Amino acid sequence: MSTAAAPASIARPQVRLTQNLINGQWVDAADGKTFNTYNPSTGEVIAEVPHSSAEDVDRAVKAARAAFESGPWPKMSAREYGNLLFKLADLIEENKEELAALEVLNNGKPISEVMAADLPLVISTYRYFAGWADKVYGDTIPVDRAMGRFFTYTRKEPIGVAGQIIPWNFPLLMQCWKWSAALATGNTVVLKPAEQTPLSALRVAELAMEAGYPDGVINVVQGLGDTGAAITEHPGVDKIAFTGHYETAQKIMASASKTLKRITFELGGKSPNIVFADADIDTAVQGAMAGIFFNQGEVCCAGSRLFVEEAVHAEFVDRFKQMAESRRIGDPFDPATEQGAQISQEQFDKIMGYIESGKKEGAQCITGGERVGDKGWFIKPTIFDHVNNDMRIARDEIFGPVVTVLPFTDHKQLIAQANDTVYGLAAAVWTRDITKAFNIANNVKAGTVWVNCYNTFDAGAPFGGYKFSGQGRECGRDALNNYLETKTVWVNLGDE
Ligand code: ADP
Repeated sequence: MSTAAAPASIARPQVRLTQNLINGQWVDAADGKTFNTYNPSTGEVIAEVPHSSAEDVDRAVKAARAAFESGPWPKMSAREYGNLLFKLADLIEENKEELAALEVLNNGKPISEVMAADLPLVISTYRYFAGWADKVYGDTIPVDRAMGRFFTYTRKEPIGVAGQIIPWNFPLLMQCWKWSAALATGNTVVLKPAEQTPLSALRVAELAMEAGYPDGVINVVQGLGDTGAAITEHPGVDKIAFTGHYETAQKIMASASKTLKRITFELGGKSPNIVFADADIDTAVQGAMAGIFFNQGEVCCAGSRLFVEEAVHAEFVDRFKQMAESRRIGDPFDPATEQGAQISQEQFDKIMGYIESGKKEGAQCITGGERVGDKGWFIKPTIFDHVNNDMRIARDEIFGPVVTVLPFTDHKQLIAQANDTVYGLAAAVWTRDITKAFNIANNVKAGTVWVNCYNTFDAGAPFGGYKFSGQGRECGRDALNNYLETKTVWVNLGDE
Protein backbone atom coordinates (compact mmCIF):
# COMPACT_ATOMS: atom_id res chain seq x y z
CA MET A 1 0.00 0.00 0.00
CA SER A 2 1.16 3.49 -0.71
CA THR A 3 2.06 5.47 2.36
CA ALA A 4 1.14 9.04 1.55
CA ALA A 5 1.91 11.90 3.89
CA ALA A 6 -0.35 11.92 6.93
CA PRO A 7 -3.49 13.99 6.30
CA ALA A 8 -4.35 17.01 8.38
CA SER A 9 -6.41 16.16 11.41
CA ILE A 10 -10.01 15.10 10.63
CA ALA A 11 -12.84 15.76 13.05
CA ARG A 12 -14.58 12.92 14.85
CA PRO A 13 -17.95 12.50 13.12
CA GLN A 14 -21.47 12.79 14.45
CA VAL A 15 -23.40 9.55 13.88
CA ARG A 16 -26.61 10.50 12.12
CA LEU A 17 -27.65 7.38 10.18
CA THR A 18 -28.28 4.08 11.97
CA GLN A 19 -31.46 2.65 10.42
CA ASN A 20 -32.01 0.16 7.62
CA LEU A 21 -32.59 1.43 4.10
CA ILE A 22 -35.46 -0.49 2.52
CA ASN A 23 -37.19 0.64 -0.65
CA GLY A 24 -35.77 4.15 -0.32
CA GLN A 25 -37.01 4.57 3.29
CA TRP A 26 -35.00 4.69 6.51
CA VAL A 27 -36.65 2.23 8.87
CA ASP A 28 -36.09 0.44 12.19
CA ALA A 29 -36.33 -3.32 12.53
CA ALA A 30 -40.00 -4.38 12.44
CA ASP A 31 -39.77 -5.75 15.98
CA GLY A 32 -37.72 -2.77 17.19
CA LYS A 33 -34.71 -4.88 18.19
CA THR A 34 -31.25 -3.31 18.13
CA PHE A 35 -27.63 -4.15 18.86
CA ASN A 36 -24.74 -1.95 19.95
CA THR A 37 -21.89 -0.86 17.75
CA TYR A 38 -18.58 0.14 19.34
CA ASN A 39 -15.58 2.39 18.93
CA PRO A 40 -12.68 -0.10 18.97
CA SER A 41 -10.17 2.49 20.10
CA THR A 42 -12.09 3.20 23.34
CA GLY A 43 -14.38 0.19 23.71
CA GLU A 44 -17.32 2.59 24.10
CA VAL A 45 -20.76 2.16 22.52
CA ILE A 46 -21.27 4.53 19.59
CA ALA A 47 -24.83 3.78 18.57
CA GLU A 48 -27.66 1.26 18.48
CA VAL A 49 -28.41 -0.27 15.12
CA PRO A 50 -31.41 -2.38 13.99
CA HIS A 51 -31.04 -6.10 14.54
CA SER A 52 -33.05 -7.11 11.48
CA SER A 53 -35.13 -10.27 11.51
CA ALA A 54 -36.30 -12.51 8.65
CA GLU A 55 -39.28 -10.15 8.33
CA ASP A 56 -37.04 -7.14 7.61
CA VAL A 57 -34.98 -9.20 5.18
CA ASP A 58 -38.19 -10.25 3.45
CA ARG A 59 -39.25 -6.62 3.04
CA ALA A 60 -35.87 -5.70 1.61
CA VAL A 61 -35.84 -8.66 -0.78
CA LYS A 62 -39.38 -7.87 -1.97
CA ALA A 63 -38.35 -4.26 -2.59
CA ALA A 64 -35.26 -5.40 -4.50
CA ARG A 65 -37.35 -7.88 -6.51
CA ALA A 66 -39.97 -5.27 -7.40
CA ALA A 67 -37.24 -2.82 -8.43
CA PHE A 68 -35.58 -5.50 -10.55
CA GLU A 69 -38.76 -6.63 -12.32
CA SER A 70 -40.57 -3.33 -12.79
CA GLY A 71 -40.11 0.37 -12.14
CA PRO A 72 -37.49 2.48 -13.81
CA TRP A 73 -34.42 0.26 -13.19
CA PRO A 74 -34.90 -2.52 -15.80
CA LYS A 75 -35.86 0.09 -18.40
CA MET A 76 -32.71 2.11 -17.89
CA SER A 77 -29.87 1.75 -20.36
CA ALA A 78 -26.51 0.32 -19.41
CA ARG A 79 -25.00 3.76 -19.95
CA GLU A 80 -27.36 5.16 -17.32
CA TYR A 81 -26.16 2.43 -14.93
CA GLY A 82 -22.65 3.69 -15.61
CA ASN A 83 -23.62 7.33 -15.12
CA LEU A 84 -25.18 6.57 -11.73
CA LEU A 85 -21.97 4.87 -10.59
CA PHE A 86 -19.89 7.83 -11.82
CA LYS A 87 -22.21 10.15 -9.87
CA LEU A 88 -21.89 8.00 -6.75
CA ALA A 89 -18.09 8.05 -7.07
CA ASP A 90 -18.16 11.86 -7.35
CA LEU A 91 -20.35 12.16 -4.25
CA ILE A 92 -18.07 9.83 -2.29
CA GLU A 93 -15.10 11.93 -3.34
CA GLU A 94 -16.86 15.13 -2.24
CA ASN A 95 -17.62 13.57 1.15
CA LYS A 96 -14.50 11.50 1.60
CA GLU A 97 -13.36 13.08 4.87
CA GLU A 98 -16.70 12.43 6.52
CA LEU A 99 -16.71 8.83 5.25
CA ALA A 100 -13.12 8.32 6.38
CA ALA A 101 -13.98 9.64 9.84
CA LEU A 102 -16.95 7.27 10.15
CA GLU A 103 -14.73 4.37 9.11
CA VAL A 104 -12.07 5.27 11.67
CA LEU A 105 -14.63 5.73 14.43
CA ASN A 106 -16.31 2.38 13.83
CA ASN A 107 -13.35 0.25 12.70
CA GLY A 108 -10.38 1.65 14.63
CA LYS A 109 -8.07 1.81 11.60
CA PRO A 110 -5.75 4.81 11.22
CA ILE A 111 -7.03 7.87 9.38
CA SER A 112 -3.82 8.05 7.34
CA GLU A 113 -4.48 4.62 5.84
CA VAL A 114 -8.16 5.26 5.17
CA MET A 115 -7.30 8.46 3.30
CA ALA A 116 -4.31 6.99 1.44
CA ALA A 117 -5.62 3.50 0.68
CA ASP A 118 -9.28 2.68 1.37
CA LEU A 119 -10.98 5.77 -0.06
CA PRO A 120 -8.88 6.21 -3.22
CA LEU A 121 -9.54 2.54 -4.02
CA VAL A 122 -13.25 2.89 -3.34
CA ILE A 123 -13.56 5.92 -5.60
CA SER A 124 -11.53 4.43 -8.44
CA THR A 125 -13.37 1.11 -8.21
CA TYR A 126 -16.79 2.74 -8.55
CA ARG A 127 -15.45 4.64 -11.58
CA TYR A 128 -13.85 1.52 -13.05
CA PHE A 129 -17.12 -0.42 -12.96
CA ALA A 130 -19.03 2.65 -14.15
CA GLY A 131 -16.86 2.41 -17.24
CA TRP A 132 -17.72 -1.25 -17.72
CA ALA A 133 -21.49 -0.82 -17.52
CA ASP A 134 -22.09 -0.15 -21.23
CA LYS A 135 -19.35 -2.50 -22.39
CA VAL A 136 -20.96 -5.71 -21.21
CA TYR A 137 -22.27 -7.59 -24.22
CA GLY A 138 -22.46 -11.06 -25.66
CA ASP A 139 -21.12 -12.72 -28.82
CA THR A 140 -22.38 -13.80 -32.17
CA ILE A 141 -21.68 -17.51 -32.62
CA PRO A 142 -20.84 -19.14 -35.96
CA VAL A 143 -22.83 -22.39 -35.51
CA ASP A 144 -22.61 -25.53 -37.63
CA ARG A 145 -24.22 -24.93 -41.07
CA ALA A 146 -25.22 -28.61 -41.30
CA MET A 147 -28.22 -27.86 -39.05
CA GLY A 148 -29.53 -25.04 -41.19
CA ARG A 149 -29.13 -21.30 -41.21
CA PHE A 150 -29.15 -19.61 -37.85
CA PHE A 151 -28.26 -16.28 -36.36
CA THR A 152 -27.04 -17.31 -32.89
CA TYR A 153 -26.00 -14.82 -30.29
CA THR A 154 -25.60 -14.42 -26.55
CA ARG A 155 -27.02 -11.77 -24.26
CA LYS A 156 -25.52 -10.92 -20.89
CA GLU A 157 -28.33 -10.42 -18.40
CA PRO A 158 -28.28 -9.47 -14.72
CA ILE A 159 -28.91 -12.38 -12.36
CA GLY A 160 -31.52 -10.51 -10.33
CA VAL A 161 -31.54 -9.83 -6.59
CA ALA A 162 -28.08 -10.10 -5.06
CA GLY A 163 -27.74 -10.72 -1.32
CA GLN A 164 -24.39 -9.32 -0.25
CA ILE A 165 -22.84 -10.06 3.13
CA ILE A 166 -19.61 -8.31 4.08
CA PRO A 167 -17.04 -8.29 6.88
CA TRP A 168 -15.70 -5.52 9.10
CA ASN A 169 -12.06 -5.12 8.06
CA PHE A 170 -12.63 -2.84 5.03
CA PRO A 171 -16.28 -1.82 5.34
CA LEU A 172 -16.33 0.84 2.61
CA LEU A 173 -14.18 -1.13 0.20
CA MET A 174 -16.09 -4.38 0.66
CA GLN A 175 -19.38 -2.58 0.07
CA CYS A 176 -17.83 -1.02 -3.02
CA TRP A 177 -16.54 -4.31 -4.44
CA LYS A 178 -20.02 -5.78 -3.99
CA TRP A 179 -22.10 -2.85 -5.22
CA SER A 180 -19.98 -1.64 -8.12
CA ALA A 181 -20.02 -4.89 -10.10
CA ALA A 182 -23.63 -5.76 -9.21
CA LEU A 183 -25.05 -2.34 -10.09
CA ALA A 184 -22.98 -1.92 -13.26
CA THR A 185 -24.60 -5.11 -14.56
CA GLY A 186 -28.19 -4.16 -13.66
CA ASN A 187 -28.82 -6.25 -10.55
CA THR A 188 -30.56 -5.00 -7.42
CA VAL A 189 -28.96 -5.51 -4.02
CA VAL A 190 -29.66 -6.29 -0.38
CA LEU A 191 -26.51 -5.61 1.61
CA LYS A 192 -25.80 -6.71 5.15
CA PRO A 193 -22.78 -4.93 6.60
CA ALA A 194 -20.86 -6.63 9.40
CA GLU A 195 -22.36 -6.11 12.86
CA GLN A 196 -19.05 -4.62 14.05
CA THR A 197 -19.04 -1.88 11.37
CA PRO A 198 -22.55 -0.95 10.30
CA LEU A 199 -22.12 2.82 9.97
CA SER A 200 -20.20 3.87 6.85
CA ALA A 201 -22.38 1.75 4.53
CA LEU A 202 -25.40 3.85 5.49
CA ARG A 203 -23.77 7.12 4.46
CA VAL A 204 -22.80 5.60 1.09
CA ALA A 205 -26.38 4.34 0.72
CA GLU A 206 -27.63 7.86 1.38
CA LEU A 207 -25.23 9.21 -1.25
CA ALA A 208 -26.49 6.57 -3.68
CA MET A 209 -30.04 7.82 -3.17
CA GLU A 210 -28.78 11.35 -3.79
CA ALA A 211 -27.07 10.12 -6.97
CA GLY A 212 -30.49 9.02 -8.18
CA TYR A 213 -30.78 5.26 -7.70
CA PRO A 214 -34.48 4.35 -7.88
CA ASP A 215 -36.11 3.12 -4.65
CA GLY A 216 -35.52 -0.57 -3.98
CA VAL A 217 -32.44 -0.94 -6.19
CA ILE A 218 -30.19 -0.76 -3.16
CA ASN A 219 -31.24 -1.89 0.29
CA VAL A 220 -29.21 -2.15 3.47
CA VAL A 221 -30.30 -4.37 6.36
CA GLN A 222 -28.27 -4.33 9.53
CA GLY A 223 -27.93 -7.33 11.77
CA LEU A 224 -25.96 -10.26 13.10
CA GLY A 225 -25.31 -13.72 11.66
CA ASP A 226 -28.99 -14.66 11.85
CA THR A 227 -29.82 -11.68 9.61
CA GLY A 228 -27.22 -12.92 7.11
CA ALA A 229 -28.69 -16.42 7.32
CA ALA A 230 -32.16 -15.00 6.56
CA ILE A 231 -30.72 -13.52 3.34
CA THR A 232 -29.08 -16.78 2.28
CA GLU A 233 -32.30 -18.73 2.96
CA HIS A 234 -34.65 -16.33 1.21
CA PRO A 235 -36.06 -17.85 -2.00
CA GLY A 236 -36.33 -14.38 -3.56
CA VAL A 237 -32.56 -13.89 -3.52
CA ASP A 238 -30.92 -15.14 -6.72
CA LYS A 239 -27.29 -14.71 -5.81
CA ILE A 240 -25.15 -14.52 -2.70
CA ALA A 241 -21.85 -12.67 -2.62
CA PHE A 242 -20.07 -13.19 0.68
CA THR A 243 -16.77 -12.11 2.17
CA GLY A 244 -15.79 -13.50 5.53
CA HIS A 245 -14.66 -16.64 7.29
CA TYR A 246 -14.67 -19.98 5.44
CA GLU A 247 -16.73 -21.62 8.19
CA THR A 248 -19.48 -19.08 7.56
CA ALA A 249 -19.13 -19.75 3.83
CA GLN A 250 -19.69 -23.45 4.49
CA LYS A 251 -22.95 -22.63 6.28
CA ILE A 252 -23.96 -20.28 3.48
CA MET A 253 -23.24 -22.88 0.82
CA ALA A 254 -25.41 -25.41 2.65
CA SER A 255 -28.20 -22.90 3.15
CA ALA A 256 -28.07 -21.47 -0.38
CA SER A 257 -28.03 -24.98 -1.87
CA LYS A 258 -31.73 -25.37 -1.05
CA THR A 259 -32.62 -22.72 -3.61
CA LEU A 260 -29.52 -23.27 -5.80
CA LYS A 261 -28.44 -19.67 -5.56
CA ARG A 262 -25.43 -18.48 -7.49
CA ILE A 263 -22.58 -17.97 -5.02
CA THR A 264 -19.28 -16.15 -4.91
CA PHE A 265 -17.00 -16.16 -1.89
CA GLU A 266 -13.95 -14.16 -0.92
CA LEU A 267 -12.55 -15.82 2.19
CA GLY A 268 -9.46 -15.94 4.35
CA GLY A 269 -5.81 -16.73 3.88
CA LYS A 270 -2.52 -17.75 5.40
CA SER A 271 -0.40 -16.29 2.70
CA PRO A 272 3.26 -17.19 2.21
CA ASN A 273 5.58 -14.20 1.88
CA ILE A 274 8.91 -15.57 0.62
CA VAL A 275 12.24 -13.77 0.99
CA PHE A 276 15.20 -15.22 -0.90
CA ALA A 277 18.74 -14.39 0.19
CA ASP A 278 19.37 -12.44 -3.03
CA ALA A 279 16.50 -10.01 -2.37
CA ASP A 280 16.97 -6.32 -1.66
CA ILE A 281 16.64 -6.80 2.09
CA ASP A 282 15.52 -3.24 2.87
CA THR A 283 12.56 -3.38 0.51
CA ALA A 284 11.77 -6.96 1.58
CA VAL A 285 11.62 -5.87 5.23
CA GLN A 286 9.31 -3.00 4.29
CA GLY A 287 7.24 -5.45 2.26
CA ALA A 288 7.02 -7.83 5.20
CA MET A 289 5.87 -4.93 7.42
CA ALA A 290 3.18 -3.86 4.96
CA GLY A 291 2.28 -7.50 4.32
CA ILE A 292 1.39 -8.29 7.91
CA PHE A 293 0.81 -5.07 9.85
CA PHE A 294 -1.26 -3.09 7.34
CA ASN A 295 -4.79 -2.60 8.74
CA GLN A 296 -3.71 -4.12 12.12
CA GLY A 297 -3.21 -7.46 10.35
CA GLU A 298 -6.95 -7.63 9.70
CA VAL A 299 -6.43 -8.41 6.04
CA CYS A 300 -7.51 -11.63 4.33
CA CYS A 301 -4.36 -11.64 2.17
CA ALA A 302 -1.95 -10.74 5.01
CA GLY A 303 1.55 -12.15 4.56
CA SER A 304 1.29 -14.09 7.79
CA ARG A 305 3.75 -16.89 6.95
CA LEU A 306 7.08 -15.23 6.29
CA PHE A 307 9.53 -17.70 4.72
CA VAL A 308 13.06 -16.30 5.01
CA GLU A 309 16.08 -17.99 3.45
CA GLU A 310 18.49 -19.13 6.17
CA ALA A 311 21.47 -17.20 4.75
CA VAL A 312 19.80 -13.83 5.47
CA HIS A 313 17.50 -14.90 8.25
CA ALA A 314 19.41 -13.33 11.17
CA GLU A 315 19.96 -9.98 9.41
CA PHE A 316 16.40 -9.87 8.08
CA VAL A 317 14.73 -10.68 11.40
CA ASP A 318 16.87 -8.13 13.20
CA ARG A 319 15.81 -5.31 10.88
CA PHE A 320 12.20 -6.49 10.81
CA LYS A 321 12.05 -6.49 14.62
CA GLN A 322 13.48 -2.96 14.80
CA MET A 323 10.92 -1.67 12.33
CA ALA A 324 8.04 -3.40 14.10
CA GLU A 325 9.12 -1.86 17.39
CA SER A 326 9.20 1.64 15.92
CA ARG A 327 5.62 1.43 14.64
CA ARG A 328 3.37 4.17 16.01
CA ILE A 329 0.30 2.63 17.65
CA GLY A 330 -2.54 4.61 19.16
CA ASP A 331 -5.41 7.00 18.53
CA PRO A 332 -6.52 6.24 14.97
CA PHE A 333 -7.66 9.85 14.50
CA ASP A 334 -4.08 11.06 15.03
CA PRO A 335 -2.64 11.59 11.53
CA ALA A 336 0.73 10.23 12.70
CA THR A 337 -0.70 6.89 13.88
CA GLU A 338 0.39 3.88 11.84
CA GLN A 339 -1.52 1.14 13.64
CA GLY A 340 -4.93 1.43 15.23
CA ALA A 341 -7.13 -0.85 17.33
CA GLN A 342 -8.28 -4.40 16.66
CA ILE A 343 -11.96 -4.55 15.86
CA SER A 344 -13.52 -6.05 19.00
CA GLN A 345 -13.02 -7.60 22.39
CA GLU A 346 -13.76 -10.99 20.81
CA GLN A 347 -11.11 -10.53 18.15
CA PHE A 348 -8.64 -9.14 20.70
CA ASP A 349 -9.13 -12.25 22.89
CA LYS A 350 -8.76 -14.53 19.89
CA ILE A 351 -5.46 -12.93 18.84
CA MET A 352 -4.08 -13.00 22.39
CA GLY A 353 -5.12 -16.68 22.54
CA TYR A 354 -3.06 -17.41 19.42
CA ILE A 355 -0.09 -15.57 20.90
CA GLU A 356 -0.30 -17.83 23.97
CA SER A 357 -0.64 -20.90 21.78
CA GLY A 358 2.47 -19.91 19.77
CA LYS A 359 4.49 -19.58 22.96
CA LYS A 360 3.24 -22.94 24.24
CA GLU A 361 4.09 -24.65 20.96
CA GLY A 362 7.69 -23.47 21.32
CA ALA A 363 7.86 -20.65 18.77
CA GLN A 364 10.04 -17.74 19.81
CA CYS A 365 8.12 -14.49 20.37
CA ILE A 366 10.87 -11.96 19.59
CA THR A 367 8.78 -8.82 19.90
CA GLY A 368 5.24 -7.76 20.83
CA GLY A 369 2.79 -10.28 22.19
CA GLU A 370 1.18 -7.70 24.47
CA ARG A 371 -1.65 -5.25 24.70
CA VAL A 372 -0.98 -1.51 24.35
CA GLY A 373 -2.72 0.77 26.90
CA ASP A 374 -5.66 -0.22 29.06
CA LYS A 375 -8.58 0.95 26.99
CA GLY A 376 -9.55 -0.03 23.46
CA TRP A 377 -8.21 -3.13 21.71
CA PHE A 378 -4.62 -2.36 20.74
CA ILE A 379 -1.99 -5.09 20.27
CA LYS A 380 1.72 -4.62 19.62
CA PRO A 381 3.13 -5.87 16.32
CA THR A 382 4.13 -9.43 17.17
CA ILE A 383 6.81 -11.54 15.51
CA PHE A 384 7.24 -15.25 16.13
CA ASP A 385 10.55 -16.63 14.90
CA HIS A 386 11.59 -20.25 14.28
CA VAL A 387 8.05 -21.32 13.57
CA ASN A 388 7.32 -24.57 11.89
CA ASN A 389 4.51 -24.95 9.43
CA ASP A 390 2.61 -27.45 11.59
CA MET A 391 2.12 -25.08 14.51
CA ARG A 392 -1.36 -23.63 15.00
CA ILE A 393 -0.02 -20.09 14.54
CA ALA A 394 1.22 -21.12 11.09
CA ARG A 395 -1.98 -22.91 10.09
CA ASP A 396 -4.90 -20.80 11.35
CA GLU A 397 -5.77 -17.36 10.10
CA ILE A 398 -5.12 -15.11 13.12
CA PHE A 399 -6.41 -11.88 11.53
CA GLY A 400 -4.24 -9.70 13.72
CA PRO A 401 -0.73 -8.19 13.88
CA VAL A 402 1.01 -11.52 14.35
CA VAL A 403 3.53 -12.92 11.89
CA THR A 404 5.25 -16.29 11.85
CA VAL A 405 8.82 -16.47 10.49
CA LEU A 406 9.77 -19.81 8.92
CA PRO A 407 13.45 -20.08 7.97
CA PHE A 408 14.17 -22.24 4.87
CA THR A 409 17.12 -23.67 2.97
CA ASP A 410 15.72 -26.13 0.43
CA HIS A 411 14.06 -24.43 -2.55
CA LYS A 412 12.15 -27.53 -3.64
CA GLN A 413 10.55 -28.06 -0.25
CA LEU A 414 9.71 -24.38 -0.11
CA ILE A 415 6.93 -24.60 -2.71
CA ALA A 416 5.45 -27.65 -1.00
CA GLN A 417 5.52 -25.82 2.33
CA ALA A 418 4.08 -22.62 0.87
CA ASN A 419 1.20 -24.67 -0.55
CA ASP A 420 0.76 -26.72 2.62
CA THR A 421 -2.28 -24.77 3.81
CA VAL A 422 -6.00 -25.01 3.17
CA TYR A 423 -5.89 -21.44 1.91
CA GLY A 424 -4.83 -19.99 -1.43
CA LEU A 425 -5.53 -16.28 -1.50
CA ALA A 426 -2.16 -14.63 -2.05
CA ALA A 427 1.60 -15.10 -1.99
CA ALA A 428 4.64 -12.90 -2.45
CA VAL A 429 8.26 -13.41 -3.38
CA TRP A 430 11.26 -11.13 -2.89
CA THR A 431 14.23 -11.86 -5.12
CA ARG A 432 16.45 -10.33 -7.80
CA ASP A 433 16.46 -13.63 -9.70
CA ILE A 434 13.77 -13.71 -12.36
CA THR A 435 13.80 -17.51 -12.56
CA LYS A 436 13.01 -17.86 -8.87
CA ALA A 437 10.29 -15.23 -9.15
CA PHE A 438 8.55 -17.02 -12.02
CA ASN A 439 8.97 -20.37 -10.34
CA ILE A 440 7.04 -19.12 -7.32
CA ALA A 441 4.49 -17.24 -9.41
CA ASN A 442 3.74 -20.35 -11.47
CA ASN A 443 3.72 -22.95 -8.71
CA VAL A 444 2.12 -21.32 -5.72
CA LYS A 445 -1.59 -22.09 -5.54
CA ALA A 446 -2.94 -18.61 -4.87
CA GLY A 447 -5.22 -16.12 -6.58
CA THR A 448 -2.68 -13.28 -6.42
CA VAL A 449 1.13 -13.44 -6.46
CA TRP A 450 3.16 -10.32 -5.72
CA VAL A 451 6.76 -10.17 -6.95
CA ASN A 452 8.90 -7.64 -5.05
CA CYS A 453 5.77 -5.91 -3.79
CA TYR A 454 2.89 -6.60 -1.41
CA ASN A 455 -0.72 -5.46 -1.04
CA THR A 456 -0.92 -3.67 -4.36
CA PHE A 457 -4.54 -3.50 -5.45
CA ASP A 458 -6.33 -2.03 -8.41
CA ALA A 459 -9.95 -2.05 -9.47
CA GLY A 460 -8.89 -3.70 -12.73
CA ALA A 461 -6.85 -6.52 -11.20
CA PRO A 462 -8.89 -9.64 -10.28
CA PHE A 463 -8.69 -10.65 -6.63
CA GLY A 464 -9.87 -13.90 -5.08
CA GLY A 465 -8.84 -17.28 -3.86
CA TYR A 466 -7.99 -20.87 -4.62
CA LYS A 467 -9.09 -23.65 -2.25
CA PHE A 468 -10.63 -22.46 1.05
CA SER A 469 -9.93 -18.85 0.09
CA GLY A 470 -12.98 -18.54 -2.10
CA GLN A 471 -14.57 -18.84 -5.47
CA GLY A 472 -15.09 -16.22 -8.13
CA ARG A 473 -13.07 -13.03 -8.36
CA GLU A 474 -13.67 -9.50 -7.18
CA CYS A 475 -12.43 -6.59 -9.35
CA GLY A 476 -11.46 -6.63 -12.98
CA ARG A 477 -13.57 -7.93 -15.84
CA ASP A 478 -13.89 -11.26 -14.03
CA ALA A 479 -16.08 -9.66 -11.35
CA LEU A 480 -18.78 -8.83 -13.90
CA ASN A 481 -19.37 -12.54 -14.43
CA ASN A 482 -20.33 -12.88 -10.76
CA TYR A 483 -23.49 -10.96 -11.57
CA LEU A 484 -24.39 -12.10 -15.09
CA GLU A 485 -26.33 -14.90 -16.72
CA THR A 486 -25.57 -15.80 -20.33
CA LYS A 487 -28.59 -16.27 -22.55
CA THR A 488 -28.14 -17.91 -25.94
CA VAL A 489 -30.64 -16.95 -28.63
CA TRP A 490 -31.09 -19.03 -31.80
CA VAL A 491 -32.86 -17.32 -34.68
CA ASN A 492 -33.84 -19.61 -37.53
CA LEU A 493 -33.11 -17.72 -40.74
CA GLY A 494 -34.86 -20.29 -42.93
CA ASP A 495 -33.65 -21.32 -46.35
CA GLU A 496 -31.53 -19.01 -48.42
P1 ADP B 1 -15.53 -12.69 10.80
O1 ADP B 1 -14.94 -13.85 11.52
O2 ADP B 1 -14.59 -11.92 9.97
O3 ADP B 1 -16.43 -11.83 11.65
P2 ADP B 1 -17.79 -13.93 9.63
O4 ADP B 1 -17.74 -14.90 8.51
O5 ADP B 1 -18.24 -14.43 10.96
O6 ADP B 1 -16.36 -13.31 9.66
O7 ADP B 1 -18.70 -12.67 9.30
C1 ADP B 1 -18.75 -12.05 8.05
C2 ADP B 1 -20.16 -11.64 7.76
O8 ADP B 1 -20.99 -12.80 7.72
C3 ADP B 1 -20.79 -10.72 8.80
O9 ADP B 1 -21.58 -9.75 8.11
C4 ADP B 1 -21.66 -11.67 9.60
O10 ADP B 1 -22.76 -11.06 10.26
C5 ADP B 1 -22.14 -12.62 8.54
N1 ADP B 1 -22.59 -13.94 9.02
C6 ADP B 1 -22.21 -14.59 10.15
N2 ADP B 1 -22.83 -15.79 10.22
C7 ADP B 1 -23.62 -15.91 9.13
C8 ADP B 1 -24.49 -16.94 8.61
N3 ADP B 1 -24.67 -18.08 9.25
N4 ADP B 1 -25.10 -16.71 7.43
C9 ADP B 1 -24.91 -15.57 6.75
N5 ADP B 1 -24.11 -14.57 7.18
C10 ADP B 1 -23.46 -14.73 8.35
